[in-house]
Amino acid sequence: MTLSRPVIVAGDWKMNTTPADAGRLATDIAAATEVAGVTRIVCPPYVALPAVRDALAATSVAVGAQNLHGEPAGAYTGEVSGQMLVGLATWCIVGHSERRRDQAESDELIGRKLLRCAENGLRPILCVGEQLAEREAGLAEETVRGQLERSIGELRRLGAGLPADLVVAYEPVWAIGTGRTAWGSDAAAMAALIRLVLAESAGVPEDGAGVPVLYGGSVTSASIAEFLAEPEIDGALVGGASLKVDEMAGIVARAGMTAAARASAA
Ligand code: PEP
Repeated sequence: MTLSRPVIVAGDWKMNTTPADAGRLATDIAAATEVAGVTRIVCPPYVALPAVRDALAATSVAVGAQNLHGEPAGAYTGEVSGQMLVGLATWCIVGHSERRRDQAESDELIGRKLLRCAENGLRPILCVGEQLAEREAGLAEETVRGQLERSIGELRRLGAGLPADLVVAYEPVWAIGTGRTAWGSDAAAMAALIRLVLAESAGVPEDGAGVPVLYGGSVTSASIAEFLAEPEIDGALVGGASLKVDEMAGIVARAGMTAAARASAA
């Protein structure tokens, strides 16, 4: 089952690029990352979504949003609903640690956002991960388990389950934008825990073995190999390096080696 999971590289451009230059960056990344077997996604800012969608229309690179609102519509000035993203994006990052930190997003809100993704045909990349103090206190697993359980609990309260096409990104907060990465073995252990919790708490079949789990946190073309050497890890959510064409080329090239190995082992 492990080997049949897709290999995914998603780039989160965060609050970078303008509509004027995002299309060119997307085009350049698409051309530099044409590697068989790798699902490629770029997630530009909202205002650049139309330009990036148009730039990538003739490629197999998918477009993702970085966020969506937890309600379907209403008096939420400045916000963007899942329905508004239809036709602009096919993926959506949910629960990124920068939003948990800066917008105080709760696990319950993140659960509602997962539901909004499912309602609008957006494939969610759910981000979870512990703070440095939590890891140093031996609480990393408990933290990630709690994040997942509370989001699943909110979905259950609303009479919904987890989106069937869920992708999870394990992103230790202390590794994001710091240049410091997790150990591959620690990320793999967390990926196994994530699948276990999804099976236990949300009834995901086959012990969660079909759910892709990505690693995120200072991934570069130099560090990606350590994570993709772990069978539990199915790719990367890339921040800073996703704005650099050469870096994305290197990351996706390494991901292509994993995809090829999985295909030949299947
Ligand atoms: C991220 O923001 O999800 C991320 C992993 O960022 P970076 O690669 O820059 O650490």
